[in-house]
Amino acid sequence: MPDTTTHTDCIERGTTPCHGTVEPRMSLSGSGTPFSRCDRHWDARLDREEEIRRRYPQHPPADFDPTYAGERWDED
Ligand SMILES: [Zn+2]
Repeated sequence: MPDTTTHTDCIERGTTPCHGTVEPRMSLSGSGTPFSRCDRHWDARLDREEEIRRRYPQHPPADFDPTYAGERWDED
């Protein structure tokens, strides 16, 4: 009987030491494909995601003034 519950290693193992439980974690990029990560690397991934969202907000911040410095939010 084939082993369908093969242990999957953290996809970031080898970058920094893994720590904690390795589990499939939901995709943050919207691809829908879960990736196995350990607790430590999952936390690190969430931190990165938060930083990316801070740097590239999907919506203009509430205090964004389009007239300020002549900048526009949507540069199309
Ligand atoms: Zn890891």
